[in-house]
Amino acid sequence: MSDCLFCRIVAGEVPATIVHETETTTAFRDIAPQAPTHVVLVPKLHSPDAVALAAAAPGVLADLFRAAGEVAAAEGVDESGYRLLFNTGPDAGQTVFHAHLHLLGGGELGCI
Ligand code: 5GP
Ligand code: ZN
Repeated sequence: MSDCLFCRIVAGEVPATIVHETETTTAFRDIAPQAPTHVVLVPKLHSPDAVALAAAAPGVLADLFRAAGEVAAAEGVDESGYRLLFNTGPDAGQTVFHAHLHLLGGGELGCI
């Protein structure tokens, strides 16, 4: 989708600091990090949110979690711990309607 920001990052049309890539996923640093480590993992396949992705391509959703584990290890937060979250819909603060998994870590995050 040419008007989707994360599709454009996946396509290399919008610059981003890519930290990891697989056949089905791309991971890049969040432009406004909410933690010392804040990486956004997106499926290359466009889907508006995680639940829609689960329905359309459950294997790709699993790929995202597998990639998150690889990113956590590469960022050195796999032992200390990290948070994985999907904001789903406006009330949750979703602002980009291309499914994405936030990986936050690098310090104590507090409870939610
Ligand atoms: P959401 O609020 O939809 O769950 O998360 C969207 C995330 O994308 C936000 O954390 C925001 O900072 C990040 N973001 C928005 N625009 C850009 C961009 O152009 N580049 C990067 N790297 N991150 C972005
Ligand atoms: Zn998209």
